[in-house]
Amino acid sequence: MRYFSTRDAGRSAPASFRDAVLRGLAPDGGLYVPETFPALPEPGSLGRLPFADLAFEIGKRFACPDLSEPQLADLVEDAYDFPVPIVELKPGRHALELFRGPTAAFKDFGARFMARAMGRFVAGGGRRLLVLTATSGDTGGAVADGFHGVDGIDVVVLYPEGRVSPLQERQIAGLGGNVRAVSIEGSFDDCQALVKRACADPAVAIGRLVTSANSINVARLIPQTFYYAYAACALDPDGRRGLVVSVPSGNYGNLTAGLYARAMGAPIASFVAAANANRAVPDYLATGRYEPRPSIATVSNAMDVGAPSNFERMTALHPFGELTKLVRGASLSDAETLDAIKKEEARSGYVLDPHGAVAWEALNRALGDSDTPGLACLTAHPAKFRDVVEPAIGRPVPLPPELEAAAARTPVGARMKPDYAAFLEYLRDATKG
Ligand SMILES: *Cc1c(COP(=O)(O)O)cnc(C)c1O
Repeated sequence: MRYFSTRDAGRSAPASFRDAVLRGLAPDGGLYVPETFPALPEPGSLGRLPFADLAFEIGKRFACPDLSEPQLADLVEDAYDFPVPIVELKPGRHALELFRGPTAAFKDFGARFMARAMGRFVAGGGRRLLVLTATSGDTGGAVADGFHGVDGIDVVVLYPEGRVSPLQERQIAGLGGNVRAVSIEGSFDDCQALVKRACADPAVAIGRLVTSANSINVARLIPQTFYYAYAACALDPDGRRGLVVSVPSGNYGNLTAGLYARAMGAPIASFVAAANANRAVPDYLATGRYEPRPSIATVSNAMDVGAPSNFERMTALHPFGELTKLVRGASLSDAETLDAIKKEEARSGYVLDPHGAVAWEALNRALGDSDTPGLACLTAHPAKFRDVVEPAIGRPVPLPPELEAAAARTPVGARMKPDYAAFLEYLRDATKG
């Protein structure tokens, strides 16, 4: 498989999977996208495969021969050692629990695959790889966990001071070893700007490889196609019932992966782009005008993105007219999100996290009383957002074991202003050889 930049209209500069993954961003500033979307085997047969086997079937189309087939088979077996439950919350309406991995967020799917792939690519290569990441919360934890202990790789995670939960901070800054955390006295956008600049700076790349682990990296996107195919093949194997999938969205990597899975033949009829008050994409779908804007803080903070990076990939795959047929936008206020959590708990006893609640409510609004099958992606365990969820439902939410372990760690890291010179100096001192 060859990869091209979204900005390389003439498709003149192909990259291999390995190069696309190690570079992160394409040299022209665009995002890498696969050249084609090879058809999946027949959904009826895929639907019976265990998750890791299905991940191998899809993954080999994108990652081999850069990874050998046995390497890929080991990789997915090792990365996906947790369950991927599909839960029926209402007749014909399902929830896909994507939060059963080690950091209790769906980002484990992408981060664990990417870390293992990068680890393979640098093994025995001589030069160390520096992985930079900016996080508004969940990415940092998943990246820290995915890369912790991987030989040949140094990781630096930047997060906005005081804007991630204490538990998220422990997930990001509590592991130590090859994973370093820096809290930035600023916003997520400040963190992302520092990472982007450092990734493009030749001074940072002296004597080593440098890449980013944000959802711009195609190695995070590809593994997210696995669960769309897995769930869709299980719920509507012959594709006749018109499955609608609702995706709680921020940077739109997850929804883009859903579109990729559909392009390969996963039996999905359409999507709901479920946003909070950060509604650049729902507004675009309604008006055709794309207006990125500063992010707004909400209770579903992993979706607080005003200028989603994967918008470029969505529109590279589908022009506006096509996209509006495949994706309908929705935007929920914080009050509506809290109400959705409360309502579902009262109705079924099921406790949604604020992100999943946006998706579940948007799905139910989109489908109304119809008997069209629906699936909502639930992207985080509710215990990660106790301060929001517990007041809404009026009872405690117990921590699952993997979060208990993280909560017991002590966060260690640096702290600085959003100043590039200071960050550069930190990188020079902190991650030498
Ligand atoms: C990152 C994240 C999202 C948004 O996913 P994107 O791919 O950025 O759209 C939604 N929910 C949770 C819990 C997240 O961590």
